[in-house]
Amino acid sequence: MAYIEPAPIKDRANPFESMMSRFNIAAEALGLDEQIYNVLKSPSKQVSVSLPITMDDGSIRVFEGHRVIHSNILGPSKGGVRYAMDVHLDEVKALAAWMTWKCAVVDIPYGGAKGGIKCNPREMSAGEVERLTRAYTQAMLDVFGPDRDIPAPDMGTGPREMAWMMDEYSRAHGTTVNAMVTGKPLVLGGSLGRTEATGRGVMVSALAAMEKSQINPYQATIAVQGFGNVGSFAALLLEERGSTVVSISDISGAYYNENGINIQEAIAYRNNNGGVLENFDGAEKMDNAEDLLFLEVDVLVPAAVEDVINLKNVDKIKAKLIVEGANGPTSAEADDVINDKGILVVPDILANAGGVTVSYFEWVQNRLGYKWTGERVNRRSDRIMKDAFDKVYETSQKHNCPLRIAAYIVAIDKVAETYKYRGGF
Ligand code: NAD
Repeated sequence: MAYIEPAPIKDRANPFESMMSRFNIAAEALGLDEQIYNVLKSPSKQVSVSLPITMDDGSIRVFEGHRVIHSNILGPSKGGVRYAMDVHLDEVKALAAWMTWKCAVVDIPYGGAKGGIKCNPREMSAGEVERLTRAYTQAMLDVFGPDRDIPAPDMGTGPREMAWMMDEYSRAHGTTVNAMVTGKPLVLGGSLGRTEATGRGVMVSALAAMEKSQINPYQATIAVQGFGNVGSFAALLLEERGSTVVSISDISGAYYNENGINIQEAIAYRNNNGGVLENFDGAEKMDNAEDLLFLEVDVLVPAAVEDVINLKNVDKIKAKLIVEGANGPTSAEADDVINDKGILVVPDILANAGGVTVSYFEWVQNRLGYKWTGERVNRRSDRIMKDAFDKVYETSQKHNCPLRIAAYIVAIDKVAETYKYRGGF
């Protein structure tokens, strides 16, 4: 289950503004038709619900839930459902648009959506979370569906919640509909390879970017911020490809070993240590965890939380490449400084799209009633990630722009072209 303590809202850039500032640059570079621009900047549907739940003590609490569909022009919309106290409709709207661009950039036939419930699942019993999840699913019966809108895990949710959603939806329809949600437990139709998919996509993107920058992966040094699902698999897979991971970090601090950290050992340690690296002795603990970001490494992988690279610290970044495992780790204001410094950034909507790609494979397998081997999943997702990287790279050369803007150009162009053909306004 992905639990991240986000920065207080007052310290965070408005995600909608961050997304829109990049969207605007790309729209201008693309010469996007103003009318299509107006269509794309607004979500196509937003549903907000109140969910009264009986708590274990017999009291009734009312929770606020949202689901925003930004676009379903390319296919059913896809996006996670977040359980957190700071869930806010504006943020859900921004994240839904983000999903549209992410799916379009890797060329999978999905639109973008996002959902959220304002709650603190850590303070709730499993029974309370189950009742809340089932109530949310009931409230969204007309929104969700394998051909309409397909939820997935996000912060505060995992396979357990996805199983309840699938079960509730299936009961309402009188038949098992496992393709209505992804990120399910394997036994319910989850996909092999999903757990490591995002980290794997980060590895593929990092190798592709190293090739373009003439960095030999066997001689490359790597620093990875965040040692959860994304960061630990990215570190492990890059290590397996011959690179040296000199620094890793998590909520307990940052750790450095100039000779390379044994990532297998670090993962085993974390798993036996309540999920954190605290007191890990395979590396030195750094005095200041933020200093990981300023190491002189070939590749920096921010894979923790948003806005860690910002106007206040961007001057100190010395990495040659940044591969964004996290969503929004670089604030929009820091973009220009990074570009001026000549640092190549593989942006989040491309670098971490391996997860949604394998979610798409999960849905494909459910619809086929068939299970692929892990090897097939990995091979196909690697190909999708590499093709997407190449297309974004080519676009950046053509428009003489950073990869981030190029990724938005690729995505917006695809969605805009689809709107043009489908019309119907
Ligand atoms: P996770 O909860 O598994 O891991 C997060 C890690 O970051 C933990 O090790 C935590 O200790 C660490 N962390 C939290 N705050 C930190 C800080 N301030 N400094 C250093 N480390 C810190 O989460 P995850 O699934 O790995 O997701 C990480 C990021 O990747 C998020 O931005 C998420 O939205 C994004 N992402 C995840 C997926 C996915 O498939 N899991 C897909 C796309 C994007």
